[in-house]
Amino acid sequence: VEGVEDVRIVMTAERRAPRIIAVASGKGGVGKSTLSANLAIALQRAGMRVGLVDADIYGPSQAKLMASEGRKPQAREKKMIPVESLHGVPMLSMAHLVEPGKALAWRGPMAGNALGQLVDAEWGDVDVLVVDMPPGTGDIQLSMVQKHKPMGALIVSTPQDLALIDAARAISLFEQAQVPVIGLVENMAGYVCPHCGEASDPFGHGGAEIAAAEMGLPFLGRIPLAIDIRRQSDAGDPPAAGDGPHANAFRAIGEQVAA
Ligand code: ADP
Repeated sequence: VEGVEDVRIVMTAERRAPRIIAVASGKGGVGKSTLSANLAIALQRAGMRVGLVDADIYGPSQAKLMASEGRKPQAREKKMIPVESLHGVPMLSMAHLVEPGKALAWRGPMAGNALGQLVDAEWGDVDVLVVDMPPGTGDIQLSMVQKHKPMGALIVSTPQDLALIDAARAISLFEQAQVPVIGLVENMAGYVCPHCGEASDPFGHGGAEIAAAEMGLPFLGRIPLAIDIRRQSDAGDPPAAGDGPHANAFRAIGEQVAA
């Protein structure tokens, strides 16, 4: 009996921490959270054991996107146990810990500690942790690259020049920290009017693909600006989980990341 107990302790100690994929952008509102939720589901569908962390400490949105609002994580030996979300993806977000609508007035070090608690939670047999980063290149990003050493980063941008300049800044932060950039995703690329079918490019077209080529980084694909993507996301039903017209765009990105 003594021997059995020893083995259990050794196995717990040797359990590998999940590999981290940071999903980042230079600025907010470009679709980083939307992509993170869909990527988590797409990777799960590709056969990986995936967890999701909402590292947007001050503006968490994953609980809504992944339909896990109101769930409260339990704790075991001072570690948080993630809550269940869509399609069995375990996840953690500040939204599970603070009251909705309440502002967090935290300085950098406290936010860094919070990030640590979310990332170093009891992830069980999860092999890949998709981490939805806050926008920009601040304290949380630094804590992420220095303390948690992501396996790679995925950068989301709209095709617009201004967003791309900010994306380049985010890329340089990961490169300086020797975190490989897995590739760029262009979101909100092209809009097809649901009434007349006319295609237009509110934020330009192809900018992220050109920027990726210029920086020598892989281009992982583009997601159109589509009312269904916004509607489904708000309803906690990410397109990657279903068979709608946008499922394949997200799944194709997931397949490249999984490869
Ligand atoms: P970020 O995490 O970069 O701040 P979000 O993922 O929260 O961005 O997206 C910002 C808003 O744009 C949300 O309302 C989201 O539903 C919407 N959105 C994101 N991507 C698309 C898209 N491809 N088509 C339509 N709406 C989108």
